[in-house]
Amino acid sequence: MEPENHQIVTNEKLFLAKVERLEQEIQLLQAQCISLKELLNTKTIHEEQLSQANYRLQTEILDRQQTETALRLLLDRLSSEKNDLEIILDTTTSHSDTIEALLYDRALSLAREVTIDGLTQISNRRAFDQRLEQEWQRSSREHMPLSLLLCDVDFFKRYNDRYGHPAGDDCLRAVAKTIETCTRRPADMVARYGGEEFAVILPNTLKEGATFIAEEVCHAIAALNIPHESSFVKKCVSVSVGISTTMPDRNVHARSLIESADKGLYLAKNQGRDRAVFNSD
Ligand code: GH3
Ligand code: MG
Ligand code: MG
Repeated sequence: MEPENHQIVTNEKLFLAKVERLEQEIQLLQAQCISLKELLNTKTIHEEQLSQANYRLQTEILDRQQTETALRLLLDRLSSEKNDLEIILDTTTSHSDTIEALLYDRALSLAREVTIDGLTQISNRRAFDQRLEQEWQRSSREHMPLSLLLCDVDFFKRYNDRYGHPAGDDCLRAVAKTIETCTRRPADMVARYGGEEFAVILPNTLKEGATFIAEEVCHAIAALNIPHESSFVKKCVSVSVGISTTMPDRNVHARSLIESADKGLYLAKNQGRDRAVFNSD
């Protein structure tokens, strides 16, 4: 082969070898490019995950901060309530005697309000009903007589009309007080039965004793000498009294004693008032 041709062949071989190397390099670069792209993809995914995790973390931090603030407020309130309670406890402990005395007084005055008539300050109807029932049972057990008086102010409506309601109230107070002075035994009870009517329970008292007290009531009221110009009986306040006595029986209702005394009162009114009448029915 001629030198010139030989040179051409050599150049051609060199050129082909270069082309082949370049192709290999291109393939390598393409492979690297693919793995770089994959790497980039992975990185983007990681970045997204990181940003989501970051967002969750931020939310959680915010939540915790809010919870912490709420807890601190609660703690503040609790500790202030604890202080208040300690002060109350201290006061209660150091004043327990006074508080006990106040409670006792309050209990007494409540018990009083329940059983005492506001106008006359003697026992009221509720206390009367309770006591009559008790005495009825006791007398029936012990086979003792029980007497009852029902006292009613005569022409009291006319008294109010003539002297006015406030004067009527004063009169009722005086009548209540006076009836009380006529009873002697601790077991006797005077109560305001209603309006201008008063009841007297006389345990272990026979007809004679009850009649004696009833007449004393009539005299004592007349002796008050409270003017009553409009009365058709006399010129001062008077009362009529119905009397009843029985041997209580637990199988009979205590009401029967009231009904009997009421009949006596009705008779006393019918017979001219200002008197005591025993009902023997
Ligand atoms: P009698 O002799 O038949 O009993 O006649 P009376 O007028 O007393 O009887 P009546 O039942 O007609 O009237 C009772 C009066 O008692 C009427 C009522 O206004 C009066 N009264 C009842 N409760 C009270 C009270 O708390 N205060 C005053 N001031 N009056 C009262
Ligand atoms: Mg009456
Ligand atoms: Mg009357």
